[in-house]
Amino acid sequence: MKSNSPVCVTGASGFIGAHIVRELLERGYRVRGTVRKSPEHYPFLLDLPGAKERLELYRADLLQAGAYDKAASGCEYVIHTASPYQINVKNPQQDLVDPAVIGTETVLESCMKANKVKRLILTSSIAAITDQPESHKIFTEKDWNIMSSLDRQPYQYSKTLAEREAWDFIMARRPRFDLVAINPAMVIGPSLSPLLNTTNQMIRDIMSGVYPCIMDLNWGFVDVRDVAKAHVLAMENDSASGRYLCSAETIHLRRIVAILKSSGFQRYALPKIDLSGIAGTLLMKLLSFTQPKDTGKYIRLNVGRSMHYDTSKIKQELSISFRPFKESLIETVRDMVTWGHLPPPKEN
Ligand code: NAP
Repeated sequence: MKSNSPVCVTGASGFIGAHIVRELLERGYRVRGTVRKSPEHYPFLLDLPGAKERLELYRADLLQAGAYDKAASGCEYVIHTASPYQINVKNPQQDLVDPAVIGTETVLESCMKANKVKRLILTSSIAAITDQPESHKIFTEKDWNIMSSLDRQPYQYSKTLAEREAWDFIMARRPRFDLVAINPAMVIGPSLSPLLNTTNQMIRDIMSGVYPCIMDLNWGFVDVRDVAKAHVLAMENDSASGRYLCSAETIHLRRIVAILKSSGFQRYALPKIDLSGIAGTLLMKLLSFTQPKDTGKYIRLNVGRSMHYDTSKIKQELSISFRPFKESLIETVRDMVTWGHLPPPKEN
């Protein structure tokens, strides 16, 4: 039976958090979203269907001790999405690792105090699985990213440390609640807020001439609406446990460009020259040194390698089916045009 307690969603203002709030409201839940500013800054949340009757917003910062006590109190489920998602930050410890790790600990402490919490659903990331594809390996929930550091892929490092912190906390403190982690790949899709998410921005970059050519790069992608659903299913399904890799399809940059070309977006500044062969990969590795530090490192670690994930656990245990990538991509682009992040497509 559906619980009458509110569900706490940290980072409700975020790309994923807002979709989780929408999914919960749609399913009839009462929701407590945590945000950093006063409620009037979030009309895209307050105007959601059901929000007037069932959404409350609480202010909380990940670096403030006890910040989530009030929001978590009386909740049976807490969904912790808040964490900085940025590449190329100035101070990786301060800008990424501290809020991710201290924030996770703060939220866990609030769940302890709340006394009623049954489960914490943590938005981890594929970044906590690995920061580098291995062409002959299929990654599963058993894999942990052991390579990242403050100097190598600091965002991936922050997500790995934060998820580790959560599992260690559960082991050490044996709380009355359990932990389920969702590990999404690159999340794209329509945004509820006017802000441009880092992953959607990558799609915009591909369409705006930022990618000089087609490189041998591929990524796992998943639609934000499916990620939101995965969190709610992990909450509703009593037998859900452990980690869940959450990825719909692994897609090569060449295929992204081909889909965009054949879907009415051929007049954007898409990469034209295909340099995804061995010589091109060598050239890209050299050129990566001209990029901002973390972008350059990302290219060197990823170019020329293919990523493979086993997503059978989430499909079987949470009975989720994912939207096809092509559909998500087209909707993402149309949504970015609507928000003004991309100019409208030109007529042929
Ligand atoms: P996002 O749109 O940037 O949202 C991040 C959220 O975290 C925002 O609500 C932000 O609040 C909040 N936040 C950041 N620093 C905070 C702080 N110090 N105190 C309180 N709140 C803070 O990013 P997203 O894509 O939705 O990411 C949500 C989660 O999904 C993150 O944990 C991210 O690592 C994970 N994830 C994302 C992807 C992806 O491709 N998007 C993939 C895998 C995992 P403000 O609105 O106030 O800044």
